[in-house]
Amino acid sequence: MRRPLIAGNWKMNLSRSESLALARQLAASVASGNGAEVVVCPPFAWLDSVGQAVAGSAVALGAQNVYFEPNGAFTGETSAAMLVDVGCKYVILGHSERRQLLAETNAIVNRKLQAALAAGLRPIVCVGETLAEREAGKTADIIQEQFSGSLAGVPAAQLIEGGLVIAYEPVWAIGTGKVATPEQAQQVHAQLRKMVEVRYNNAMTEQIRLLYGGSVKPDNSRELLRQTDIDGALVGGASLKAEGFLGIIAGAA
Ligand code: PEP
Repeated sequence: MRRPLIAGNWKMNLSRSESLALARQLAASVASGNGAEVVVCPPFAWLDSVGQAVAGSAVALGAQNVYFEPNGAFTGETSAAMLVDVGCKYVILGHSERRQLLAETNAIVNRKLQAALAAGLRPIVCVGETLAEREAGKTADIIQEQFSGSLAGVPAAQLIEGGLVIAYEPVWAIGTGKVATPEQAQQVHAQLRKMVEVRYNNAMTEQIRLLYGGSVKPDNSRELLRQTDIDGALVGGASLKAEGFLGIIAGAA
């Protein structure tokens, strides 16, 4: 059994006081135990204060990005060790917004993955096709390319031990309100799990958690999360309000 994971990606939203209020509400409401594992990924500026607000609760802290170098003259960047130091357990890598707006390639995601694993951060690696790629019938090829490129050279044992999570986020469904149907999402998740089986081994295929992301809301999450190969959700917009995010968490139990 794979424990469901619900991760909130706050992106570049919420003031410090809004972030703290949301974090406190979630910390007070998310029960520890056998339900879904819950992670919030606030903006970097609020990692420390949100981390303190959720400390000791069932809500874990994650970052939205990391830099692959350990330290040095890299203005504006943050190392994996710094994220661990501030209390992060997870880090999102290769989000489509970073791939599209900040020219993040599979090779860069791969270097970040290696840095995250070396520091003990659990990576959530994002993959997903654009609408044009889907319409051209290239979804499986794009996912395969991102999967292979982002994970290149890292042995299965290290990925399993490091708690690798992969999030399938069709670009056309992110922030658009256009959610993939449960069948569309399940189809790509099954392909992804097959890729894991072909490239790695059975143990990893069984253990790895595959999240769906793209306009997940409380009213569509239950059906998505019921799919055989969907082990949780990476949630953007609906993670910015406690009520919506808690509704999604409840649907994953
Ligand atoms: C995301 O950015 O990871 C995401 C899934 O966003 P939204 O839920 O807003 O589509």
